[in-house]
Amino acid sequence: MNTDTTGQIHVLLGLPGSGKGTQATRICEDVDIIHLSSGDIFRRFAANSHSNHLYRRIREHIDCGELVPNDLACNIVMREIESIHREGKGVILDGFPRTLSQAEFLDERLSENDGHISSIINLAVSEETSLERILDRGRHDDLPEIAKKRLEVHLRLSDPVLDYYRCKGRLVEVDGDRAQDEVKTDLLRVMGVEI
Ligand code: ADP
Repeated sequence: MNTDTTGQIHVLLGLPGSGKGTQATRICEDVDIIHLSSGDIFRRFAANSHSNHLYRRIREHIDCGELVPNDLACNIVMREIESIHREGKGVILDGFPRTLSQAEFLDERLSENDGHISSIINLAVSEETSLERILDRGRHDDLPEIAKKRLEVHLRLSDPVLDYYRCKGRLVEVDGDRAQDEVKTDLLRVMGVEI
């Protein structure tokens, strides 16, 4: 166990509504680590879509439940990771990588810089739980049709990401269908960080 998270990357995978964001936020209250949510970054950009063509492109994808194009997503998220690392902090990645090519991109970029992923966790919930929780949280892109579409896109594109890490023997499953405190305790243990 350690309290120093410098340069670490913990990848949190899971269906929309699996609790990635909630858990990452709670962990950051106790551990000196940054929660990097690709969805939050892209929603922030989309909110400024009037000012910039790139932001408008991002908004168009988010609003219909599609993924932001890979090259764009990779560059934006990688820039954020590198900036957090320059500040000497570790990161919990929530929402990235979401496709096989994003996972490969992350590995390549990290190995170029002698970096590596510290832990890779699948926060597992059923599709029913996922959809229920999405519809409960009421975000503006959480309308039933868009939420269903996001779940479908996620299952199609993100299952290969799970397989990719599973084949490398890196994937740890954590049951997300339990009380929040129990889930958090398990996540901290797998991440190997101490409060
Ligand atoms: P959810 O957990 O409900 O899927 P997120 O907040 O993670 O929500 O993502 C919201 C939206 O942001 C996605 O539907 C997608 O359009 C975009 N997005 C987030 N992460 C990525 C990514 N890694 N690659 C491409 N698009 C992404």
